[in-house]
Amino acid sequence: MPDAAAGSGVWFGPDHQHNISARVPGETQSNQAAEVYAVTLAAGAVPKHTPLHVVTDSKYTLDGLTVNLPQWEDCGWLGVANAALFQEAVAWLRSRTAVTTLRWVKGHDGVPGNEGADALAKRGAGMPDVVGVEALPPSLRKFLPIGAKLAALTQAKAYRWILNLKDKGRCVTSERNALRVVAAVSEDLHCPISENRLWRAFRSKDLGRKIRIFLWKSVHDAYRVGQYWRNIPQCEHRATCDACGVEESMEHILTECDAPGQRIIWQLAWTMLERAGLKLPDVSYGLILGAPASSLNENFTTNPSAGTNRLYRIVLTESAYLIWTLRCERVIQLENDPERWRPPKAVARAWLACIRKRMNVDWMLTRVKTSSRKSMIDIRSRGPVKT
Ligand SMILES: [Zn+2]
Repeated sequence: MPDAAAGSGVWFGPDHQHNISARVPGETQSNQAAEVYAVTLAAGAVPKHTPLHVVTDSKYTLDGLTVNLPQWEDCGWLGVANAALFQEAVAWLRSRTAVTTLRWVKGHDGVPGNEGADALAKRGAGMPDVVGVEALPPSLRKFLPIGAKLAALTQAKAYRWILNLKDKGRCVTSERNALRVVAAVSEDLHCPISENRLWRAFRSKDLGRKIRIFLWKSVHDAYRVGQYWRNIPQCEHRATCDACGVEESMEHILTECDAPGQRIIWQLAWTMLERAGLKLPDVSYGLILGAPASSLNENFTTNPSAGTNRLYRIVLTESAYLIWTLRCERVIQLENDPERWRPPKAVARAWLACIRKRMNVDWMLTRVKTSSRKSMIDIRSRGPVKT
């Protein structure tokens, strides 16, 4: 019904200060939606470390959160009514650290809590419309599996599921990678960012065009590395990193590979950033891809300014891109022949040249605007690189 209005009620006790009346968000205004939403409200109102006992007269909600949940998740929530509301409730419940129980009682049967919740829900239904369902914050989204289980899908269901995703204009892999980056930046740098901010940052003019493309393609898993070669006859061997004997991936190349490259470059980059007053956590794939959207606070730098953030972004992204180009040189031009690989000193020289070149560009741009040399930093080599 277009003019329907549904409300949820959470009853803690007679006239209890934590009792909740709320209007159900979103377009589906039904009793069932309201019953599911009440669980989210209850889980959000009670601290995570305090036991929570949910008593509901809704078999629909109870079965949904217990019996049906594994099957719904396996199928990627395909065709499940009130899926967004159920997912929200599941994420809240999974984020709890104390005991949570769910119990069913008969409705409209004189049970005081049930009658109380009913009255609160009626009041909620009279509240103003809430437009749209707010996106779950990344700290809760991590409790929900992404995608669907292949074994649980028939071909027809898989096709419908993909069409469903296309309707939403997003790709599962990119979404998963972006969430991972958002979580890494939010947790490791205490800098909460949204997915939108991340996508916008990839278009930042602070980054060169090649770097922007590199980051964008990495988040979309668009480079032909590792898994890509697994199903291509006669090319299966390309899936493996020759230096390490494990399956290659962009994460492996940028942060794990033993071939001369990533370790030396990150060592140099971190030394340089430490000299500029930055105290950073260990490098990770999430931090690298999230660098354009990151802002460092006083926990990580003695000087939290736009200039410091710019330096951080430039050094991380230029270093990552150099690691990638050196890997391509090693694998394609030098045909994976260890005898021809660049020795550690040559890698260090390449990094210095790359950063110096980029800094000079930055300095020239800054000089035009402010006639200041503040953005210059000492990037001279200080002795041999240890590997
Ligand atoms: Zn490797």
